[in-house]
Amino acid sequence: MKNHQPIRCSVMRSAALLLAGLALACGALAQDFSKIEIKAEKLNDTTWMLVGAGGNMGLSVGEDAVFLIDDQYAPMAPKIKAAIAAITKKSVQFVLNTHFHFDHTGGNEALGKEGALIVAHDNVRRRLSADQVISFAGNTARQAASSKAALPVVTVPGAISFHINGEEVHAFHVPAAHTDGDLIVHFKGGDIVHMGDVFFNGSYPFIDVGSGGSPQGMIAAFDRVLALAGDKTRIIPGHGPLADKAALQRTRDMLATLTQRIAEQRRSGKTDEQVRAAKPTADHDAVWGQGFIKPDQFVQLVLNGLPK
Ligand SMILES: [Zn+2]
Repeated sequence: MKNHQPIRCSVMRSAALLLAGLALACGALAQDFSKIEIKAEKLNDTTWMLVGAGGNMGLSVGEDAVFLIDDQYAPMAPKIKAAIAAITKKSVQFVLNTHFHFDHTGGNEALGKEGALIVAHDNVRRRLSADQVISFAGNTARQAASSKAALPVVTVPGAISFHINGEEVHAFHVPAAHTDGDLIVHFKGGDIVHMGDVFFNGSYPFIDVGSGGSPQGMIAAFDRVLALAGDKTRIIPGHGPLADKAALQRTRDMLATLTQRIAEQRRSGKTDEQVRAAKPTADHDAVWGQGFIKPDQFVQLVLNGLPK
């Protein structure tokens, strides 16, 4: 129980950046979880998208198993269990973490203690096993090492398939994208994809460069999902509403366009400060700059993630 208080936030720099980052970085402290309801959106006979606080969850329930993708913040665990109990009497057999961030892995301890087998990329176990500092380009959040019960028991370097509930659920690693440990989950039968935080639907992405993410890796990950998706594919993003292929394509185009612009500014010899001051995202900010990650943070994260 020594890690019962896993999140401390240290805000560097300005109040503006504090506001920008708190919603995501320090949500566990800033939010009143008692008011949050888990909403379950049924996508087909066996699959749901669950929305509460923190990252969106995916749930597969059928004759073989209860399979959960991500588990939000630790205080949400009782509500997550209640939401699943409203769908099935069975307990959760598998939890798959799309990456290590605390707004996606907080329920691991509670679910692991009840017997769920936690599955994630190799680097998720490595990062959850030690203290982490997550940088948002201007502020940081500290994520303390997890307890043993919260750690993934099965770790995957590349890809893994679950043959459950009448279909193949295929999880595959996309290198250096949101972090260095992202898994994307493809429900092949149901034509549903859960992208974790590789995809923020409707806002600038958080690229956790300090934890091995990169803009190029994000774009490559988008291309992999665009290649397997059709016009009817439902795409669960890490944050934001349920999406489709067209929304993913728009996000991919935004990121590719802005990464290229920012890279050109860097090549022209500008300092990071000068690139930010040039406002290279200005014509996109009204649409994409209203989420967790503000335009200046996004520009700096892309700069941090460009090849040196
Ligand atoms: Zn994340």
